[in-house]
Order: sequence, then structure tokens, then C-alpha cells
Amino acid sequence: MKRFKLLKKDSASKFPQKPGVYVFKKNKDFLYIGKAINLRKRTNSHFQKNNYRDNLFIDQVKTIGYIETNSEIEALILEANLIKKYRPKYNIVWKDNKNYFYVGITKAELPQIFWTHQSKTKEAKEKAIFIGPFVDGSAIKSTLKVLRRVFPYYTVKKHSKVLCPWCQLDLCPGPNPNKKEYQKNIKRLISVLMGSGSVVLKNLKREMKIMSRSQKFERAAKIRDQFFALEKILENARLPMFKTVNIKRQIEFTDSKDVFRKTKQKTLSSWKKTESKLKKI
Ligand SMILES: [Zn+2]
Repeated sequence: MKRFKLLKKDSASKFPQKPGVYVFKKNKDFLYIGKAINLRKRTNSHFQKNNYRDNLFIDQVKTIGYIETNSEIEALILEANLIKKYRPKYNIVWKDNKNYFYVGITKAELPQIFWTHQSKTKEAKEKAIFIGPFVDGSAIKSTLKVLRRVFPYYTVKKHSKVLCPWCQLDLCPGPNPNKKEYQKNIKRLISVLMGSGSVVLKNLKREMKIMSRSQKFERAAKIRDQFFALEKILENARLPMFKTVNIKRQIEFTDSKDVFRKTKQKTLSSWKKTESKLKKI
């Protein structure tokens, strides 16, 4: 895992104006970890416009630190990993208030994805695995939505025998999924949410080459689309904005066009073009 670059308390103005994760420390103790789209602006605001939460710890801060990321999604995921690892005192206080979000993945043959505030009960842990804690609820919901484009998943236990509205948006694997492919997609989705997006990209690239070598061009093209869409998501500085905030009404959301320019060329010639492009990466 990346390490924090630590500076003195009064050095927030030296922070980059980039997305990332920041930390407030008192000697060796981690007081608070947060994420930002603009590290400098966000850290400064804790000191200048401190709210009631900041007042709990701001006087104790001795050093501040940051880790720069390429995107807001990367920052969101890194923040969750770092909070889990260091358990900063003032993040934990809020965690007990059930303010945090977890992504749940059921342990079924065809896992179902959901988000929740509760991850601790024994019963819950037997039925699903949980990734988190994510502090920013709307950011993790948006992230799940964009990732669903790349890795279509179920949000219901049992799919109906006919196409559902999500199917028509290519967000759901449908009533007759390829089980192996679905399980692979879920594994990749989990890896991305746990901070291994770059490993997933490498993985996709490798599988794409194998498929094209064995002349399975349709499958290769599918993986190529996943590769480019995921790469774009992980590179994009900001999360796309959605019109609705209610996840139950996901159907109405619209993606920002620059994140998804979904290509649907499945011909051999377009595949060759992709292949040569990939070789240069
Ligand atoms: Zn469906």
C-alpha cells in the first residue's frame, strides 16, 4: 500500500491540488483520514472552516500527510483501505454511528451486490462478504453504478425468467447468464473495490490476448470493452454525476458521456485495430 507523505501541521498549502487521501496525526497516532478531490483545498478547510467534528481533534494535530491518487474513485477506495488498516480514532467514533457504507457481495453461486450500513452481525458475515468502510455514501453509490457498466451484476436474489429493465441497459447479466463469466466479473469487481484496479486491467489484457489467439473474437471484444471502460473510470479525475440520488431509481440515471463511449464494434477488423493499440500500452 502507498505511504503518506508527512508534513508539519501548518503545511496544508504545500499539498497538491490533486485528488487523494489525507491524514491528521498526533505523533504516531492516526487521528483522522479523509479523501479529497483537491487535497490542498480540503485539508485547508478543516483548519479554516472547522465544523463540530473538526473541533474534536484539530488542536491535537501535529503532522498532516497525503497520498495522491489519479482519480476520485481511487481516493475513495484507498480511503476505505486506510481507515480499515489504521482505524483512526475520530473515524471510528463516527463509524459507530453507522454513518459508514459497505458494499456487500452475497456468497451465492451467482452473487448479488448491495450496499449497507450493517456489516458486523455474525449472520450477515455468514451470508456475504463486505468491503469498506466507505465514508462518502453518494460516492460509493456512484462508483457502483459506473462499475456495473463494466461488470454487470445482480441486485436481486433470483432473476425473473424474462429480461428486466437493467438487462436492457446492459447492467444486468440477464435470466440465462454464463455462470463462469459472471463469477469472474464479480471477482474483478471485488478486486477493483479493494484497490487492485491496475491488477484487474492487466488481467483483462491477458485474457483478451488469449481469447484473440484462440480466435474467440466475440469474447475478446467483450473483454476489450471492459478493459477500456475500466481504464477510463480509474483515470477519470471526477466521478460522473447522476441525476438521481435514490439507488432504487437507478434506472433514471444518466452517465456523463466522456466516461462511457461504449464501443460496440465487434468485427474482426476493428479487433485488429484494438490489438495494435493495446500493444503500445
Ligand atoms: Zn436483468
